[in-house]
Amino acid sequence: MAIQTNLSKIKTQLPSNVTLVAVSKTKSVEDMMQAYLSGQRIFGENKIQEMTEKHQKMPKDIQWHMIGNIQRNKVKYMASYVDLVHGVDSFKLLNEINKQAEKNKRIIKCLIQIKIAQEDTKFGISYEEAKIMLRSEEVKKLNNIEIVGVMGMASYTQDKIQIKKEFKTLKINFDNLKKIAKNLMILSMGMSGDYKLAIENGSTMIRLGSSIFGTRNYTN
Ligand SMILES: *Cc1c(COP(=O)(O)O)cnc(C)c1O
Repeated sequence: MAIQTNLSKIKTQLPSNVTLVAVSKTKSVEDMMQAYLSGQRIFGENKIQEMTEKHQKMPKDIQWHMIGNIQRNKVKYMASYVDLVHGVDSFKLLNEINKQAEKNKRIIKCLIQIKIAQEDTKFGISYEEAKIMLRSEEVKKLNNIEIVGVMGMASYTQDKIQIKKEFKTLKINFDNLKKIAKNLMILSMGMSGDYKLAIENGSTMIRLGSSIFGTRNYTN
């Protein structure tokens, strides 16, 4: 029951233009079904294998989002069903997603991951690199992917001022990139610890795990 209570509390506070991705990594199908039964249809996972196993077990009207760092040789396992790939940070990856999408006669939506955090551990490309990617003729030739927005992760810190600064930067990047690519609509930023700040700073998609499902047993 806790999962359904958590979800309904979060949802009543969400502005209507903000989409909620329920991050279910490491959580059981039983837990996920609790969320599903209270109306949640978008789930995010960070491992392709785990997502694919869950995709086979869960109802078919779910939208699956890949939010983790991706190994190119595994893209083929999710290409038939994945709805949105959040963490695209190279042309090589984009090219592989396009190739596998084409095999499946699909168009896969992607977000470019921009690095806003201070730590070296966070993935993503710079704003300048994102600009180059969106302008590139090579990328424009990829007919089976569609870049629909950007994604970013703030620094892992308690410093709200720092986090706010990073979210503001990403929002400005997003607005500028929209001038280059008209179909950018999604700004994916905000997790359990910082989603309110993310929404205040222009997020249109938040990725919440622990605030819905409780703490994870192991980190991923
Ligand atoms: C795990 C994860 C989340 C969710 O984290 P919580 O703090 O549990 O809400 C969001 N985004 C990404 C990329 C993640 O890997």
